[in-house]
Amino acid sequence: MPTRQQMWEKLGQEHLDVLIIGGGINGAGIARDAQRRGLRAALVEMNDLASGTSSASSKLVHGGIRYLEQLEFSLVFESVSERRILMDIAPHLVNPLGFLFPVYKTSRRALTTVSAGMWLYEGLSLFRVPKRHKTLKRDEVKKAEPALDVSNMKGAPLYYDCSTDDARLTIESAIDAAESGAVIASWVKATKFLHNEQGRVTGIVAQNVRTGETKEVHAHTIVNATGPWTDRVLALDHGGDPSDLLRPTKGVHIVVSNEKLPVNNAVVCFHPSDGRVLFAIPWGEQTYLGTTDTDYIGDPGEVCATLDDVDYLIDVSNHHFPEFLISRDDVISTWAGLRPLIRPVNQNNVDESAVSREHQILVGKDGVITIAGGKLTTYRKMSKEVVDTAVKLLRLSNQLPSKPLVDAHTDRAPLPGARDWPANDDHQQVADMILDQSNNLISPKSAKLLANTYGMRGLMIAKMIVERPVLATPIIEGRAEVMAQIDHGVLNEFAASVTDVMERRTQIFYRDSDQGLGAAEKVGARMAELLGWDDTTRAAMVKEYHDVVARSRAWQNEI
Ligand code: FAD
Repeated sequence: MPTRQQMWEKLGQEHLDVLIIGGGINGAGIARDAQRRGLRAALVEMNDLASGTSSASSKLVHGGIRYLEQLEFSLVFESVSERRILMDIAPHLVNPLGFLFPVYKTSRRALTTVSAGMWLYEGLSLFRVPKRHKTLKRDEVKKAEPALDVSNMKGAPLYYDCSTDDARLTIESAIDAAESGAVIASWVKATKFLHNEQGRVTGIVAQNVRTGETKEVHAHTIVNATGPWTDRVLALDHGGDPSDLLRPTKGVHIVVSNEKLPVNNAVVCFHPSDGRVLFAIPWGEQTYLGTTDTDYIGDPGEVCATLDDVDYLIDVSNHHFPEFLISRDDVISTWAGLRPLIRPVNQNNVDESAVSREHQILVGKDGVITIAGGKLTTYRKMSKEVVDTAVKLLRLSNQLPSKPLVDAHTDRAPLPGARDWPANDDHQQVADMILDQSNNLISPKSAKLLANTYGMRGLMIAKMIVERPVLATPIIEGRAEVMAQIDHGVLNEFAASVTDVMERRTQIFYRDSDQGLGAAEKVGARMAELLGWDDTTRAAMVKEYHDVVARSRAWQNEI
């Protein structure tokens, strides 16, 4: 895999068919689809891949049962169909998860109505579900979720959706695009649009964020896939006038240890103050709670949890799990993201949670294609629609490549970590292979982590370890992440900063009790060896990570 520096050097060397701005799940999916069809594609991302909303979601690949209530049947149908596809193309990253939906004596809906909703939900997926639902009686709920307060509960349907690792889904889509030949340039910002005499956008000025260097990149079609930054990027083309396409809403999650809050399934919780639906989601040795949904104005790069957000999430937990009361001191980490929702026309009074999650693809007068709205779950299909639109524009302007385009097969081609994945979806079998191929230099716990994180690409890490046994050392004593993950991140997965490794190549930022602060120097030192950083750069990268952690803890300053 070319390094980030090599990608920067390649960028702009050829006239592209499609240039994508934004390296979230949508940008990565579009690059994958376009390049696989035979188009020349490049992607620029001003930070790390998935550093925006695509690492700040609730990490669910789901139909969104609550959209049934809003009668958004087509969104649910699309989402459950995509859930099936993602389970096939990324089985290592998209895993069945039980959801418990408690129905109380005071609930607006009877247990039978909610159960009927489950049938409808499964029917919309043509019953191709991770597992069929069943309705638990109160005492069965208590057995399934001992920590959950069942007083006043009539029962609870247990239905199935999927959990995922949003950042890795993005990174693997980008790796797949790069393997097909796309240029994936992270830490490169689009700062300006270039126009022809007719006012059509013909390229961008790209800035290497790390060095300040700039260059022109020319393309026949340009895609704006910048999620919550969409309006800011559109404004680049309006002489800086703000654009008003989005109504971004902020969503916050908090992470606590699963000893503090033990859940076996994702538990649907209703907030005692406003009745909103939230989830308590099991996450290995941790549990996370989310999400909030509040309007947000300001720089998307500055979004973070406030004390109100954290207290709101603690309240819902303590309401439903009164024997496992959690406090602010139990919060290990937080994350906050912005939903890039489309502003409803003439409906500014609509409640945040009621704004549709449907996506739109718009083509501006200047020819820029913008993708906005939508969900992580439906990224593959949205990406396909964007590339269809780009192909139409290329055809209209007689700029289709001379070689015929082929089918991208993004619905069948496995993501890189899923190639040769066992047909029976046995994660343990892959963990055993990794352990074996690392000559047992790592612990079974590390092997399991590598299998679940990288799928079959975990074997690449095992090979690195055999070649250099020191890489089997844990990044943090007692934890499962190993030093080889740093090398793999840098050499094979575009990692270019300490934060990239801590937050999105591993999940140390979220899961370690110290958020990895104690290991930042060590990670910085290894990255300096791999990337040739001088002492000033290494220190700056470590400080940058400290700042990121501080922002995630900014809520504590309000106490
Ligand atoms: P982003 O991931 O934000 O990517 C945009 C990228 O553009 C950023 O990385 C940014 O750095 C880059 N960028 C911006 N400006 C420039 C520029 N000038 N030059 C270069 N790069 C630029 N969906 C689900 O299906 N399941 C869920 O469980 C779920 N939960 C969610 C929970 C929350 C709290 C939120 C906020 C969203 C959730 N979603 C969920 C929705 C889903 O996360 C988003 O729809 C999706 O991640 C959006 O991806 P994106 O690629 O459009 O945007």
